[in-house]
Amino acid sequence: MVLGVAKNYSHVLFPATASGKNVAPRVAAKLDVGQISDITKVIAADTFERPIYAGNAIAMVQSADAIKVITVRTTGFDAAGQGGSAAVETVAAAADSGKSSFVGNEIAKSERPELTAAKIIVSGGRAMGSSEKFNEVLTPLADKLGAALGASRAAVDAGYAPNDWQVGQTGKIVAPQLYVACGISGAIQHRPA
Ligand SMILES: Cc1cc2nc3c(=O)[nH]c(=O)nc-3n(C[C@H](O)[C@H](O)[C@H](O)COP(=O)(O)OP(=O)(O)OC[C@H]3O[C@@H](n4cnc5c(N)ncnc54)[C@H](O)[C@@H]3O)c2cc1C
Repeated sequence: MVLGVAKNYSHVLFPATASGKNVAPRVAAKLDVGQISDITKVIAADTFERPIYAGNAIAMVQSADAIKVITVRTTGFDAAGQGGSAAVETVAAAADSGKSSFVGNEIAKSERPELTAAKIIVSGGRAMGSSEKFNEVLTPLADKLGAALGASRAAVDAGYAPNDWQVGQTGKIVAPQLYVACGISGAIQHRPA
């Protein structure tokens, strides 16, 4: 569907979410252009900043491709204000290619704030020792603070916390105002960028 309209545009942007990162590389490959991943700043129409080495360095990248396919690290940008003057076009959906069909989905339901948007996060690491301890120690704190629960990769790999709680480079990129890390070693994925 994206491919059907992409050629009319100079830039095709996706959020750097699981869904955006699923679609963007396929679109870039089909258009035969490079993907510019995870941008945190726009320098010019063809030049962008993006974190590398898990946020330890910032690379400035420039693309000479006619169409720029970009994933955007949304937490790196302030929300746009109201009242912009850009034209909003309604684009008709492309015809179904029939190559894939929607079978169903299972969405994790939670009363807690969504990790990627949470202002406060309580995260647990390998030192929590078990999912029972994770729940016993961290859940009451997160409840009191109105926080989202997160976990290190080590904790997720050990089965102490579900996969969708993983914070970091291969997990979710978060931007809370307060990050409480319990039993986490201080790996770069859990420190401010
Ligand atoms: C390419 C790549 C991508 C990665 N992506 C991610 C990612 O997205 N997210 C992520 O989390 N990790 C990621 N990692 C792994 C990351 O580098 C660390 O290995 C991992 O985060 C460590 O998890 P941890 O701090 O829970 O465990 P550990 O490193 O084992 O740390 C546990 C800490 O708990 C302390 N401790 C032990 N017992 C107690 C106690 N009783 N009370 C208090 N403290 C205690 C220990 O001293 C230690 O500091 C990635 C690694 C690679 C190579």
